[in-house]
Amino acid sequence: MARDYYEVLGVQKGASAEEIKKAYRKLARKYHPDVNPGDSTAEDKFKEISEAYGVLSDTEKKKQYDSLGHDTFKNGGHGYDFSGANYEDIKNHFGGFDFGDIFGGAGGSRSRRSRAPRKGEDIHYTIQIPFKDAIFGNEYEIAVNHTVSCKSCGGKGGDKSTCPACGGSGQAMSQQRGMFGVAPCTTCKGTGEITQNVCAVCRGSGYSNKQEKIKIKIPKGVDKNSKIRVAGKGNAGPNGGPQGDLYIITNVKSHEVFERQGNNLYVEVDVDMFEAALGEKIKVPTPYGAVTMNIPAGTQPGQKFRIKNKGVPALGKSVIGDLYVVIKITIPQVAQEADRTALKEMQKKYMTGQRDKLVEKARL
Ligand SMILES: [Zn+2]
Ligand SMILES: [Zn+2]
Repeated sequence: MARDYYEVLGVQKGASAEEIKKAYRKLARKYHPDVNPGDSTAEDKFKEISEAYGVLSDTEKKKQYDSLGHDTFKNGGHGYDFSGANYEDIKNHFGGFDFGDIFGGAGGSRSRRSRAPRKGEDIHYTIQIPFKDAIFGNEYEIAVNHTVSCKSCGGKGGDKSTCPACGGSGQAMSQQRGMFGVAPCTTCKGTGEITQNVCAVCRGSGYSNKQEKIKIKIPKGVDKNSKIRVAGKGNAGPNGGPQGDLYIITNVKSHEVFERQGNNLYVEVDVDMFEAALGEKIKVPTPYGAVTMNIPAGTQPGQKFRIKNKGVPALGKSVIGDLYVVIKITIPQVAQEADRTALKEMQKKYMTGQRDKLVEKARL
């Protein structure tokens, strides 16, 4: 036993045309067969709400329905028979309501602008570069596979015109098992246009594949996942539109000696305990060549010294990061008894007793 049409749409008797339309759109979006492929319950539901809306959205039918009541209306043959209707019928019946509208009209707008030239897709190309290139920059020649506009047809693929079957909408009413829906137009496969005199060179695509050698400049300061844009070296644009762009993604190899953190570099430098205790002029590596620096007497392990502007240049700026020298202290193996005695003498003078204080502090 079929339900009352108002009940089907979930609205009150006496609901306004706007309320009915709103309720239908909401339900249609939920139960539309495109959203629920292969779900026969949703299909039945969609059919049911479409039937209800077909009647309640039509002023005359609605008047009859309201006065006769559901069962009489159905049995009296006034009900709208969807199984034999064509697109014009349903459009008239639905008061110009556009099915494509259910999904925001995406199908229609796509086809309307499909013949206009558009910019092509961007291409991404990852390049692995040595650490050195991030500091100094470099130039490369890479081979990129992309599409270019077909020379034979100028990227058009043939002579295009509006599809006569769907009038350019790309959509057609479909009837499956007596149910109504919108399906892509079979003549134009939903594109809204047909192509005649198809270009024999590109078979209508408007593109040809090309491997092109492209010179690229890696600027100073690139890091992992930096993006460098090479304009106009992406894929060909539809309908003879401009080429997309090529994006070079850099992957910088790590270095054995320098550790990078942003634009700063860290380098661990070995200092023996005598140098650390007495202070010393030491030679330290930088990406720009070794430099000499002073470490003061009493330098501790892990202590950091900053050397300004010896890090990585900031990408696209005239700023250079810093280099941090991190001190590692090497303790000698003392083998000779005389040296051990000498160190023990020094130990008596210089031991700090710090650890005993710690043990004391840690007592709970
Ligand atoms: Zn068509
Ligand atoms: Zn062509």
